[in-house]
Formats: sequence, C-alpha cells, structure tokens
Amino acid sequence: MPEKRQFRAIRGTRDILPPESSLWNWFEQTAREVFESYNFREIRLPIFEDTELFARSIGIETDVVSKEMYTFGDRDESSLTLRPEATASVCRAYIEHNMHALPGNAKLYYIGPMFRRERPQKGRYRQFYQIGAEVLGQSDSPAIDAEVLEMLIAFFNRVGLTRTTLYINSIGDKNCRPAYVELLRAELQRVKAQLGHDSQRRIETNPLRVLDSKIPEEQPIIEKLPRISGHLCDACREHFAKLKEELNLRGMKYEENWRLVRGLDYYTRTTFEVTAEGLGSQNAVCGGGRYDGLVELLGGPPTKGIGFAIGSDRSILSIQEGGNAPPPPALSVYIAWMGQKTYRAAVSIARKLRAANLTVELPPEEMKFKKSLGLADKLGARYALILGEDETASNTYTLKRLSDAAQKTLTENELLEYLESERRGTRA
Ligand code: AMP
Repeated sequence: MPEKRQFRAIRGTRDILPPESSLWNWFEQTAREVFESYNFREIRLPIFEDTELFARSIGIETDVVSKEMYTFGDRDESSLTLRPEATASVCRAYIEHNMHALPGNAKLYYIGPMFRRERPQKGRYRQFYQIGAEVLGQSDSPAIDAEVLEMLIAFFNRVGLTRTTLYINSIGDKNCRPAYVELLRAELQRVKAQLGHDSQRRIETNPLRVLDSKIPEEQPIIEKLPRISGHLCDACREHFAKLKEELNLRGMKYEENWRLVRGLDYYTRTTFEVTAEGLGSQNAVCGGGRYDGLVELLGGPPTKGIGFAIGSDRSILSIQEGGNAPPPPALSVYIAWMGQKTYRAAVSIARKLRAANLTVELPPEEMKFKKSLGLADKLGARYALILGEDETASNTYTLKRLSDAAQKTLTENELLEYLESERRGTRA
C-alpha cells in the first residue's frame, strides 16, 4: 500500500479559488482594455528561459539573481530559470523577432506568474503575478515615460485603486551615474561603522541599493548622503524636467523620491513606483522605469526602453481591503426539474439559455422540488426555472424569482425575451 500522504501547495504558492478568481479575471480583463486603448498589444512569453538571460540583464549582484531564482539543470545540462520578471524576456523576444524593423515603437503588455524565492509573508509570495507593459524603440522621449505612467494610473483608477501614490526619480545614465556612485561609495565608506551588515556589503557591490534601506537606525545617515539630482548630466536633468512637464500637462499627481533606485541593475534615468494604502510593509503595487541599453546588452541593436510591472496579488488585496471589489458574477437560473419526461425539456432549455449568455445550473440528477429550490437558494441563483409534468404537458415554464418568490408562467419565447432583457439591464 502506498503511504497515505496529503499534498499541499508549495510554501509561497497558493490556489486562487472562486469567487476570488472572478476578481482576478476582471482585474486582468480591465488591464487588457485599458492597455489596448493606448495601442499596446499582448505578448505571451515562456515561463522559463536560459538562466544567463536573467543573470545578464537583472545583474549578478542583485538579490533576485544571487538569492531568489528558481534555477535547474535541464536533462541536456543547460541551466534554465523560472522567470523572476518578464522585462528580460520581452527584450529577448524583441531581438529574436527583429521587432526593431517594425513601424513605430513596439508597445507590448504581458500577464502572468513570476517566481522568486523570497520569504513568504502577506503580499509576498514565491509564485506571484504581474501585469507589465513595455515600450521599445528608437525614441527616449519623456512623452513616452509620461504616457506609460498615465496608462498605469488610468488602469489603477479603473479598478478602483485610488488611494495610491506615484513616486518618481531619475537615476541618471551611463554618463553621469558612475561618478555619482563613486561619490556615494566614498561617503558611505566614511560612515560604514554606523551601517548594518547588508548596507556595509552593498557599499562594495551596489551602493545605490543602500538608499533602499528601511532600517530605522540607518535613516538619519542616509538622509545626509549626496543626492543624485545634484549630479545628473545636462541631458538627464533635462529629460527629468521634461517628464515632470509632461506629467503636469496630463494633470497627474506625483511625488519625487530621490531614494527610489529600484532593485534591478538595468534601469537608467526615469524610475518610478506606486504604493497603495492598507497593505502594511509590502505596499508597492507597481515598479518600473527606463532601461535604454538593455536590448543592446542582450546582443540586440541600440534600443530605448521603458516599462513597468504591476503586482497583481497586492493590488487585488488592496482592492479587497478598500471594499471596492465588484461582486462576483451571479448564477442567473437554476433549473428545478422533476420527472424523467421533463429532463429532455430541461436539457434543451438550459442549452438555449446558455446560448443567450445566461449562467445556468442544471442539476444532473432528479430531486424533489423542495430540495431543488433549497439548493438554488444556497447557490445564490436569481431565478429558479420550475419544470414539472404540468409545464411539460402545456409547453410552458414557471419562473420563480428567489428574492421575493414572485412567480410567472411563460412560453419559451417569452422566457428567453424576459431573461435576456433582465441580463442586459442588471447583469443577472
Ligand atoms: P519588481 O519586478 O521587483 O519591480 O516588482 C514589481 C511589483 O511586483 C512590486 O511592486 C510588487 O507589487 C510585485 N512583486 C514583486 N515581488 C513580489 C512577490 N514576491 N510577491 C508578490 N508581489 C511581488
């Protein structure tokens, strides 16, 4: 006898069950509608890629690559990794399919799971979901940055995620950032003894990341560090100023946060993050920025890029906690049938109602009316369609509204007409 064992979802992963899954579908569908209205189109990407793709683009020294990737050897010894994010994959696809030769910018969005071996907690999972968008092409106009941000906030507004704050920053480019990073490193060396272990290590590996620190004792020290805004080159300063003009033109609210550097290596110039209320410490619902040069780093032609990734798990949590979630779709009609002769009529009318886009439950086994109507109630059906010997004999249907037990007898045409007009009016 095999050992009796109860299987459970792996730590940091979870099942999304109904009715919550309806909320997810609505959330993702809304993203599709909003993004497509900005002329973005969906790209469907593989879940795993060559490990080197992520190592090279995200950066060897980042937490994601050094500690969090799900990496495994394939049977032919090649090293594969479950994607921890999708920007690298989008760039890989852009190169692989020669998208630079297409007219205009490539405007792409994706929806799907990402994998990082982080410590699970509320709003942080090992399999989590992102909705992202990327613009790749020849232009690095700040108007693109602003339109991407406008689209992002339009989406958040559409799903009722309105208690949010948009933070923006510029982290310079390859002309001005290296000098700033050296200056920062030198300043950090001077205060090294007052910093925690992680920040001390980052002085060598990635001094910018020290600015991300949330450790209370480090805050007064970090506040006194030199800020990149004073060290941007003219082109980067102008780009950032134009971005703010473009955001003002769109009537968008934002806050500048000089410490917003983001965890991945590939960002240049614009970086941004959106936080939402009611989520505790894991309150970032979206992160993104510009990554001019990433496509080239991956072996493609010189290309500008900007994009973001929305964390669906946290966004949906915030929508639920704000009480703004739309109700799950209701069951319209429960068919309470009795008598083997009526079964044929029940199957036939169920098919017709479903073809008219109504949600219909047809019990597979005969039940007494009392039991059947009780179940209809428990399932939250709006109507019970009662089909007994009498109805079959007279070719009619008895429709009972379960909220007030109002009942009417209808022919098939009347029934279809009535329920369809109801559906159009009330989403029943
Ligand atoms: P990043 O790809 O790190 O820039 O993250 C973008 C967004 O994805 C974050 O703002 C979060 O909302 C979400 N996110 C990142 N990591 C996780 C995780 N482990 N669990 C849940 N959401 C995450």
